Amino acid sequence: MFETHNNMLAFKNGRIVTPFKEIPKGTILVEGQKIVAFGPNDIIKIPPLAKIFDISNKIICPGFIDIHVHGAGGKDFSDASPESIKKIISFHINHGTALFLPTILSLPTPLLAKTLDQLPKAWAKTDFLSSFLGIHLEGPFLNPSQRGVHKLQHLCKPSIETMQAFLEHSANTIKMVTLAPELPHCAELIQWLSNQNIVASLGHSDASYLQTKKAFRKGLHHITHIFNTMKGLHHREPGALGATLNNNRISTDIIVDGYHVHPAAVQLLWRQKGVENIILITDASPVCGLSKGNYTFWNTQIQFDGKKALTRESKNLAGSVVTLDRAVKNFKRITKCSIAEAIQLITFNPAALLNLQNRKGQIRRGHDADLVIMDEDFSISMVVINGTIMHTQDK
Ligand SMILES: [Zn+2]
Repeated sequence: MFETHNNMLAFKNGRIVTPFKEIPKGTILVEGQKIVAFGPNDIIKIPPLAKIFDISNKIICPGFIDIHVHGAGGKDFSDASPESIKKIISFHINHGTALFLPTILSLPTPLLAKTLDQLPKAWAKTDFLSSFLGIHLEGPFLNPSQRGVHKLQHLCKPSIETMQAFLEHSANTIKMVTLAPELPHCAELIQWLSNQNIVASLGHSDASYLQTKKAFRKGLHHITHIFNTMKGLHHREPGALGATLNNNRISTDIIVDGYHVHPAAVQLLWRQKGVENIILITDASPVCGLSKGNYTFWNTQIQFDGKKALTRESKNLAGSVVTLDRAVKNFKRITKCSIAEAIQLITFNPAALLNLQNRKGQIRRGHDADLVIMDEDFSISMVVINGTIMHTQDK
């Protein structure tokens, strides 16, 4: 990693994918933290003092955004220490992720409060402050029967009061909550979250078709890792899955690591939801980036064979070890979507879900300069966050 303090950066000769428009040979000018101009090479004049990067034969697109990521390299965001945060980001940034919604699993309430208190403060002590988009709380208002690796004793009943306390502890940085709408009083909680502009997302849920439709009416409009930790589609009780696939206003995220979801299910989602309503996530666990072996994370013994991490006890998947560059490559191969469409799923769509589309998630004049420079096969050569080069292959 190196940082440049040069005020103007010019990336020339790149294939710009905004992702809504493609320019085969283009230039992007970055001044301070912003994109100030972009267009075909012959139209954009590079000011004499700019630091120039010739990115011939490379794609330049917005920085990737991961809205569901727990950790990497043996560290978990819930450690809430600057060292862990640095280690996790330094790992994922090599795979194109510029912006993070660190995701916190269900914890005992006092520990969760403490973690929420410390995480934003710890992040501010790193060089990566502008990569923090807020916190994704995965739990604790989850259905015990779909809890996955969440500990039963850490789950609790939905309550606006509890949620409000969490939000205060986090200094208002919670931006997304994964919950099970069928739990008692969850409808009120969904409505409350929606009024606070916090994304309520269905996950770890056994909701019926009607319960899901009710949640949609209360303001829930996103689904966490669709197909996982929810019932399958039954023709007499289509459940949350049926309600989601049948409604084009509901977006969903998915783990395309080759293990969580069958390729045919990925294709089905693509046909049914299209480019506007899909977001790719990693759900990366602390095992991501480690070599194969036995580990204990989340108070759970995990066996990692180098490809997938399973709980030792029940042999269920314990988070994933995929990175966003790999997930998007898998998705593109399975669905045969275009590169611009693939990029949209990890840039504009997550930005829009978080209501940040006016400054993040696309290459546009005046937008934050979060950029990835890569090959067509998603091998990453440079990542720029908010106008600062944070990762480059040639050190
Ligand atoms: Zn997760």
